[in-house]
Amino acid sequence: MKAIILKDFGGPSQLVVNEIAQPEVTTGNVLIEIQASGVCHHDLLHRQGRLPKARSGVVLGHEASGIIREIGTGVTQRKPGDRVVIYQRRFCGQCPSCISGRHDLCKALGSPSVDTEGSYAEFISVPAVATVLLPENVSYQQAALASCPIATSLRAVHLSQLKAGETVLINGASGGLGIHQIQLAKATGARVIAVTRNASKAGFLSQWGADEVIISPDSSYSATVWKLTDKQGVNVAIDNTGVSLPETLYAMAQGGRVVVLGNINPRDVSISPGLLIGRRLTVQGSGSATLEEVSQALALISYGIIKPVIHNIINFNDVSAAHQLMETSDISGRIILQGWR
Ligand SMILES: [Zn+2]
Ligand SMILES: [Zn+2]
Repeated sequence: MKAIILKDFGGPSQLVVNEIAQPEVTTGNVLIEIQASGVCHHDLLHRQGRLPKARSGVVLGHEASGIIREIGTGVTQRKPGDRVVIYQRRFCGQCPSCISGRHDLCKALGSPSVDTEGSYAEFISVPAVATVLLPENVSYQQAALASCPIATSLRAVHLSQLKAGETVLINGASGGLGIHQIQLAKATGARVIAVTRNASKAGFLSQWGADEVIISPDSSYSATVWKLTDKQGVNVAIDNTGVSLPETLYAMAQGGRVVVLGNINPRDVSISPGLLIGRRLTVQGSGSATLEEVSQALALISYGIIKPVIHNIINFNDVSAAHQLMETSDISGRIILQGWR
């Protein structure tokens, strides 16, 4: 089968199309023919060698949908022809985290932050329990966004305990995470202040529900937030960029809740303990969704409450160009890989 191998850590040209053996369908596993795969910032960090414990020589990609072509022995709940989305990390199903529904915390099969098998390939073999059936009216392209950008955003909104009538700040707003958080926040009945670096994104963000858009090329937006909120600050912030965290904290209201989700350019930042104490702020980190939240994301897509925002669709063979595009320009939503030449 065709697959894209990360030859070595480095630039987009390290991603090369190769012919490799089709994965075996072991006990409990299903073989899936990939129909669509999203390109995540996580993939870029992996390719650049910036994720701890990540390896080269592997196939990247964890945002995949496809058709089950074969089932292994012992699989009773899936059959060939089933349309599925893949849970983004492997889990054991037996540890205390898995048993409590927190498959995202399972460490039994390696680091939860690193992909094990990749979806930049024609086929993938995964445990049947790591697949979720697609509602009939959800396309493969839409489904590819369900497990990572949409379910991850849903998890962040859940953690933030955002309520109707509250104001939420969302930065990195035009990316794959932000644009779906805007929709989720509006569905909750919140007022959304979106932050973007690029003035050309203002219309796009308003179109997807942002009540106010702050254009801030240098990530200094707290003063504008202060003006927009009558010097009250925002109740909730979802920080999708990471290095912006100090600025986000200055934008918070008394008792505000901050969820840190993205880390585009990983480095340490300084935080004032006095600010956390004075404003009684809660700051929490969030990551990939639970299996249940992937099902919820698919339901929200199926009912038309969340519309997956796709920047464009690129042939798998042009994966280097897809990575290049994500590195050099502001993307509006997700890039999807689909089809082979
Ligand atoms: Zn992802
Ligand atoms: Zn586990």
